Amino acid sequence: LWQACLDNLQRELPSQQYNMWVRPLQVQALNQDLILYAPNKFVLDWVRDKYVDRITELLKELAGDNSPNLKMEVGSKPVAPIANPKLELGNKPAVNQHASAPQQNHGGHAFNSQVANPAQIGQTPPSLRSNLRENYTFDNFVEGKSNQLARAAATQVADNPGTAFNPLFLYGSTGLGKTHLMHAVGNEIRQRNPDAKIVYMHSERFVQDMVKAIQTNSIEDWKRHYRSVDALLIDDIQFFAGKERSQEEFFHTFNALLEGNHQVILTSDRYPKEIDGVEERLKSRFGWGLTIIIEPPELETRVAILMKKAQESNFDLPHEVAFFIAKRLRSNVRDLEGALNRVIANANFTGKAVTIDFAKDALRDMLALQEKLVTIDNIQKTVAEYYKIKLADMSSKSRSRSVARPRQIAMALSKELTNHSLPEIGAAFGGRDHTTVLHACRKVVELREKNHDIKEDFSNLVRTLSS
Ligand code: ADP
Ligand code: MG
Repeated sequence: LWQACLDNLQRELPSQQYNMWVRPLQVQALNQDLILYAPNKFVLDWVRDKYVDRITELLKELAGDNSPNLKMEVGSKPVAPIANPKLELGNKPAVNQHASAPQQNHGGHAFNSQVANPAQIGQTPPSLRSNLRENYTFDNFVEGKSNQLARAAATQVADNPGTAFNPLFLYGSTGLGKTHLMHAVGNEIRQRNPDAKIVYMHSERFVQDMVKAIQTNSIEDWKRHYRSVDALLIDDIQFFAGKERSQEEFFHTFNALLEGNHQVILTSDRYPKEIDGVEERLKSRFGWGLTIIIEPPELETRVAILMKKAQESNFDLPHEVAFFIAKRLRSNVRDLEGALNRVIANANFTGKAVTIDFAKDALRDMLALQEKLVTIDNIQKTVAEYYKIKLADMSSKSRSRSVARPRQIAMALSKELTNHSLPEIGAAFGGRDHTTVLHACRKVVELREKNHDIKEDFSNLVRTLSS
């Protein structure tokens, strides 16, 4: 069970968060309890703060009625059975505070109360628990140009579920807030109407559930359940690829829900038509409502996100440090969060002042990776390949549109993705003047607003270069 839970967490969390906080945990199952041992109080508090809700949720998802009570302690897993007095050895307050004395089973820790009544949970078939993550709300979703439309559409859907846009299809690369927004809609609908039946599900989970329903001859129940929900949120539907039976069932469920004006929200890492291995009729139906992209956030939004997250963690993040981090981590909000958590953790461990040098040091490996990846050279090669022009044309004098446009785009990307100055960029493009680079950057901004193809090209290139 714990292994399955770990597998899920590993998939959901940025690897350095997983490695830093989850991997060091040791686990022991004892009757109905699952005890997590953290190496120190700091890790314990952190895990309890950030991950225990999700772990509890996963355990419920995975084990249903049999999900254990989760407890946390500082220390390591006892070698002998837990009844052994050895466990009482560590007489530090931290240990006592989190000790697994039986009388504490149903009280005390906030996260315990969530599993306090398994009977109640047992009444809902596992697939129909809402699975909504309460901490993903509109309030803590930072708005910027890159996600403005998606956020606005999501708000509309939350205001008028089933009638505003149905389905709402959000797409964009990983870590940009699709899952967050989807839950925000669910939470908002539920807040207004606590009786609303809302089901969030990852598409892989949907497939697993269906297979289980078939195996246990309960597919009819399963279908009925799905068709009775007020809002169905299916995440990452690109994982439906190749799963024909699931697509078939989903198609019917989907139609039934749309016909009854029940809200459907879907996400994917790419535009519906581009999802390979999914039936055409399904893809075309995905586009019946509203399809919106979430793009990587611009610098100002990245700074705003960092400041907001720091504030949520009660951490005093100097603006210039936020700026420093945001300037370097460009492609994905999850990485930004990971970086911030790392800075916070390091600051707490060392008690040092949070300066740019401090952040540089704490994030050394993350930043090295980024700097290495995005060089002007790399940009020129990638752009030349993308537009099928010669690399030499990046520095040539040719003014023909088919060459000049990609060159401008490459210059704009160099400005956006590296820390080189305008004169340096000009030099790298066949010794051009810095004003030429500036002009190219402005031109590209304008083109991206006016011309859908260029906008797509630019996003694709940013994605390729920064992943
Ligand atoms: P996706 O589903 O697109 O891969 P997620 O929704 O899981 O991305 O987002 C990754 C992380 O970044 C989450 O912790 C989420 O809360 C956070 N996040 C993404 N976008 C924003 C935003 N605009 N404001 C605040 N947090 C965000
Ligand atoms: Mg997601």
